[in-house]
Amino acid sequence: MDPKIEIIDLQSLASGDFLQLKVYRFVGNSEGKKVYIQANLHGAEIVGNAVIYELIKCFSSLQPQDINGEIILVPLCNPVGVNQRHHFFSTGRFNPHDGQNWNRIFWDCSSEISKEIDSFLEENFDLSEAEIYRIYKDKIRRKLEKKIEEEDRIRGLSFSEKYRNLLQKLSALADYVIDIHSSSVSAISYIYTFKGREKSAEYFGFDYGVLVDEIEGKAFDEAFLNPWLKLEEKLAEKGKKVVFDVESWTLELGSGMKIEEESVERGVSGIINYLAFKKVLNIRLLPIARKIKLIPKSQMKHYYAPKGGIIRNRLPAGSIIRKGETLYQLVSFEKREAMPTITEVVSVDEGIVYDVSTNDTVNEGEYVLGIFAHEQ
Ligand SMILES: [Zn+2]
Repeated sequence: MDPKIEIIDLQSLASGDFLQLKVYRFVGNSEGKKVYIQANLHGAEIVGNAVIYELIKCFSSLQPQDINGEIILVPLCNPVGVNQRHHFFSTGRFNPHDGQNWNRIFWDCSSEISKEIDSFLEENFDLSEAEIYRIYKDKIRRKLEKKIEEEDRIRGLSFSEKYRNLLQKLSALADYVIDIHSSSVSAISYIYTFKGREKSAEYFGFDYGVLVDEIEGKAFDEAFLNPWLKLEEKLAEKGKKVVFDVESWTLELGSGMKIEEESVERGVSGIINYLAFKKVLNIRLLPIARKIKLIPKSQMKHYYAPKGGIIRNRLPAGSIIRKGETLYQLVSFEKREAMPTITEVVSVDEGIVYDVSTNDTVNEGEYVLGIFAHEQ
């Protein structure tokens, strides 16, 4: 089957050119769930574009009866970030105009909805789960539309706001969203997941997952799911335990500025298997589901250089580490010392090194590596 292709204008440029998004929609014959998949929100995190290319190839080879519902794919979803360079490095993590992290600009409507949640529950508490789902989803959609309508069109919108509106509108009707990232540096692959979605996470086939235990609501995955988590909490308080079939994922597929084929394969098979599990694809499950080691987000421990210098013998991403073991050595040519000094930087955690920076020269306070730490 062929996808429906849509080009969306994103930004007109001073040079007279346009930035645009290209959206691929695969619509199945039968009713079903809506899936929204995007890649490359951060400029250096390019691997997801190869994943989407493989998904387009795969879905194109299917018949319309093999898909229930709709799958929307947006590769290169942030052209500003994608095209940005400093020398040959991709630096597109922050909007150069306002300094904001591209993945901290999204609008979480749950604080708006919380004002009305008690009256919503009074009216709808006794309805079926499916009915509550339908009505609440519509409420979220209307909140987003109202916010966009009320924005100051006369004086213009900042580009971050316009961009945020566009991606949130594209994904507003989805039941499942998948945002494909990678590390900006060098890293293992893992997935972010939320309370109540741990079982579904296993179908992606990752060894490690980060359970988001503190939600700010400004990341794409959080802004999408948080209103549902809030509703589930409220229902539980009132004695109704429900986990709605609405899910939001951030995939971290290996390193930045690289298309590692192993990461591509992991992303493609993981997404296909997840969609088969969700019955969006009428195909057999792949044998990749596995028990996932979940690390609370608060247990992602970041190590920063204690002083400036040159890094040697740093452990690579994926290393298992014990407390007291050396993570790396730091050689410093300090001007106030006669001879160069060497500092052994040891781990104060037990766990696995999940990412390491790519530059082996650091100033004091620069990021060196991260550990998924076991709770002590
Ligand atoms: Zn990212």
